[in-house]
Amino acid sequence: MEQNKDIIQFDIPLAKRIYLKNSNSKLLKKILIFTPFLFFIFSIAALRIIRNIKLEPLKNLKFQIERNYEGRILGHLPYSEIPKEKLVLIEPNIEVHIDMRDSLLKMREEAKNDGINLVFLSGYRSINLQNEIFYSLKSVRNQDAAERARVSAPPGYSEHSTGFAIDIGDAAQRETDFETEFENTNAFKWLKKNAAKFHFKLSFNKNNKFIDYEPWHWRYEGSIEALKVFENSNREL
Ligand SMILES: [Zn+2]
Repeated sequence: MEQNKDIIQFDIPLAKRIYLKNSNSKLLKKILIFTPFLFFIFSIAALRIIRNIKLEPLKNLKFQIERNYEGRILGHLPYSEIPKEKLVLIEPNIEVHIDMRDSLLKMREEAKNDGINLVFLSGYRSINLQNEIFYSLKSVRNQDAAERARVSAPPGYSEHSTGFAIDIGDAAQRETDFETEFENTNAFKWLKKNAAKFHFKLSFNKNNKFIDYEPWHWRYEGSIEALKVFENSNREL
């Protein structure tokens, strides 16, 4: 008797077979048929979401680059350094791109014929030198980077590193070297009138909103290579 009681107490429920109603089984069949389609649709949706997630930062970056005017820093465009074999020394301490040498010397010669003595103040400058100029003068003058960038390019962003830029002074008025007053010299007036004939162009005119006017700084655009280098710079801001 005791044993029987125990059996009753620990009765294990039996598995029941449950029959689905007719309508339920039809639904199940439909689900089974449509499962591959649903899987396909969800896969496409998932892929699109993943692709959007992946592309979104790139789109933002591109937008930022466009907003940033082709990778400018403080208004200056990036320039790579000219390969050493393309540099030529035209006078002590003045090296320039070989493509612009003849035109530059011819321009000086023609100015001389008109009674104007052009002085070459600075040609090619290495990125290292630009680094020194930018950071040492910045600390000496106690200017922040943006203020400094108005008068000097950050390293890697100077036209001088391409070998296609030249700073010019007037031998008769050396006190105007690297000064805005250079625009009042006969040398500047002559350059404004004649430089284009030799494919030279003023880089930083009065309209530039980032960089101060530099009447002494000219760049050469007389070769395809030079034009490529300054392509972005010649686009309207
Ligand atoms: Zn310059």
